Formats: sequence, structure tokens, C-alpha cells
Amino acid sequence: MNVHEYQAKQLFRDFGIPVPNGKMCTREDSVREAAQELGGDTWVVKAQVHAGGRGKGGGVRVVRSVEEAEKAAEDILNLRLVTAQTGAEGREVRKVLIEEGVAIQKELYLSMLVDRASNAPMIICSEAGGVEIEEVAAKTPEKVLQEPIDPALGLRTYQTRRIAQALGLTGPAVRQAGKMLSDLYRLFVEKDASMLEINPLVVTESGDLIALDAKLQFDDNAMFRQKDVLALRDVEEEDPLEAQASEADLSYIRLDGNIGCMVNGAGLAMATMDLIQYVGGAPANFLDVGGGASAASVEKAFRIILADTRVKAILINIFGGIVRCDRVAQGVAEAAGNVELKVSVVVRLEGTNAAEARTILEGSSIDFVVANNLRDAAEKVVSAL
Ligand code: GDP
Ligand code: MN
Repeated sequence: MNVHEYQAKQLFRDFGIPVPNGKMCTREDSVREAAQELGGDTWVVKAQVHAGGRGKGGGVRVVRSVEEAEKAAEDILNLRLVTAQTGAEGREVRKVLIEEGVAIQKELYLSMLVDRASNAPMIICSEAGGVEIEEVAAKTPEKVLQEPIDPALGLRTYQTRRIAQALGLTGPAVRQAGKMLSDLYRLFVEKDASMLEINPLVVTESGDLIALDAKLQFDDNAMFRQKDVLALRDVEEEDPLEAQASEADLSYIRLDGNIGCMVNGAGLAMATMDLIQYVGGAPANFLDVGGGASAASVEKAFRIILADTRVKAILINIFGGIVRCDRVAQGVAEAAGNVELKVSVVVRLEGTNAAEARTILEGSSIDFVVANNLRDAAEKVVSAL
């Protein structure tokens, strides 16, 4: 789960990590009052969307008067923000963050994630932070330090020293980094974060360390014990179909292709997507209806796939191990009967009561394409496009 920058910064404050003072404003709020309350003579107006790269996309503006702040907020709220992470269609901006301006001496990069290779949380940092960090990582990887943390020992002092050195810190910022890193690690672990990124982490002109940007992602599987984090969820920022699917307890992820997939079991779903690619197609989604796919969940899944207008053909691949194929077939036939079906549906049902399932599908008023095996199904769905 993702949260907005202003929410991540509030969590940072709660854990004692320095961030600029700021106020979130929607279209209804007075940006003038927010800027006046913050005080000072420089402000930064920042688009609040669940996507990075806002700076380059025109979603971050530094302003020098209350009037300019109002104008910048209005512009950004009227923007369809296109960044490297939003895709060409861009994102509607519903919220902006008004912050006190910070005089920057140096922009650094710092992040934490769960690293698969070392099976541990890892801190990644670079002295060359800012909006070009992707290029730094690609062209000069030696400028990026990776520091895995043993979860049993926690973050060690020698590690924070190594990180402070890699960041090129001197003076009071070294001690500040030590405290900040241990507070960040505490936040990361206590809140079940899966990713934390500060880009830029800055050294101010007075030599202090402050998090100018904040990105946090949380482990969805831990949300049952993180009610206060879950309360930060902004459904409007999520893909509407993914949000519907999560309501219905379906694992659904939108992809770029045009073949809708409905499969039971994550492993089978991955194999199905691979096979579609292998025979020249492109899956529109990953969708696992669960090992014991019920007729009701099949119907819900079917509706979600059909609501995606890019879908030109559907492949249903169900292995009836726990669930009986005939019941799935009934669910599929019923769901298909309840919606206006404009695309071909290829069905591969194998396992318990597969023969009965085939009879149900063939007897249905809908023209299902029944496949004999998985390879056949993938080929049929690609030729149905
Ligand atoms: P992102 O592009 O979505 O990651 O947005 P950021 O919050 O990282 O902002 C992009 C860039 O705007 C930063 O790298 C800074 O250069 C600049 N910026 C953000 N806040 C301030 C500020 O308070 N003062 C100044 N001078 N620049 C800022
Ligand atoms: Mn940033």
C-alpha cells in the first residue's frame, strides 16, 4: 500500500525524523491561509499523487510570495500530471502540499527496502541525490552504497558511520544522520513498511539534515495489524479495478496487454501469463481467483476483467483440485450471461468434473471457445484477438 508524501512526512514527524513544516490543501482549502500560517518568504507547492518524478513533470514549484503560492497551487490542481511513473495518460491532482521553503546546500539519496538477495532490510544511499538518481544508479553505480541490515542485530553504529561517510557528511550532520537512520529503521520495522525513500535528503545551508521528500510503501499483508496506516489509504489514487478486486479479496494486478486472464492459484496464473507471452500475446492482467475459486468469486473476477476496456479476449484457466470444474463452469456461464459479452472467451478447465464442465460450457447460450489443454488455450486466445 502506498501513501501520500504529506502522510509519510507526518509519520516521519511522529518518529522524530526532521521534515519541513507543511500543510496539505485540497481545492476547498485556502492556500493563502496555509502559506501565511507557515510563515517565511519561500514556499514549495507540491502535487500529492501516488507517483514519483513530480519535479520533472511540473508538479513541484518553489514560490516567493503568498500570491504566487496560490497561483502555483491552482495550476498544479488543474494539471493532469504526467511523470515517468504515471504513463502517458497522467494523473489528476486532488491535493497539494504547501511547505516552508528550505535553502538547499546538497541533495542526497536515501532509501530502505526489503532486499531479496540478502534476505534482509537494506539501506541504499548516494551522495548524488535529486531528480537524476535513476541516471546516477544506471551510469555510475559506484556512487551508490548498499548496506544490508541483519534483522536480529538491527542497524549497527559502524553501519551508520559508513552511510554518513558515503553521503559525504561532515560536522553536526554526521550525528544527525545517526539519529535519523535509527529513527527511520524503527519506523520501517514498527510500521511494516516495504519501502521507504527520501530523495532528496538534504543538507541545508546551515548544515542540518532534513528529509525534503518522503515516500513510504507498506506490506499489504501486514495491514491487519496496522490499522492507523490502513486509515491513510487513498482509494482515489488506486487503479479503480484493483481497488474493486481487493474489496472482493481477489489478487488482481493490471498489466499492459489486451488478454484478460482469470486463473486459480498464483503459480498457475504466472505460468499462464508466460505461456500467453510465449505464443505471442500480452496479458492485460494478473488475476488469481484463489485455489478454491467459488462461482461467486469467478463472477466477480469476470466482471472486473470485462470492465477493462482494453481487453480484447479472455482466457479462463482453472484447475479443479479443491473446487469442482462444473461449479466453476456454471459460475462462468452465469456471469457471462449477466454481462454484455463482446469478446471471445477461451476456457480451459481441467481436474475434478472437467467433462461435466465442458458439457455446461458447450450447452450455454454463449459461444465459449473450449480448449483442450493450456498450450491450446493460449494459442486459441491469441488467435481470437
Ligand atoms: P519528486 O520529483 O516527485 O521526487 O519531488 P521532490 O519532492 O523530490 O522535489 C523535486 C525537487 O524539487 C527536489 O529535488 C528539489 O530540487 C526541489 N525542491 C523541493 N523542495 C524544495 C525546497 O524546499 N527548496 C528548494 N530550493 N527546492 C526544493
Ligand atoms: Mn523526490
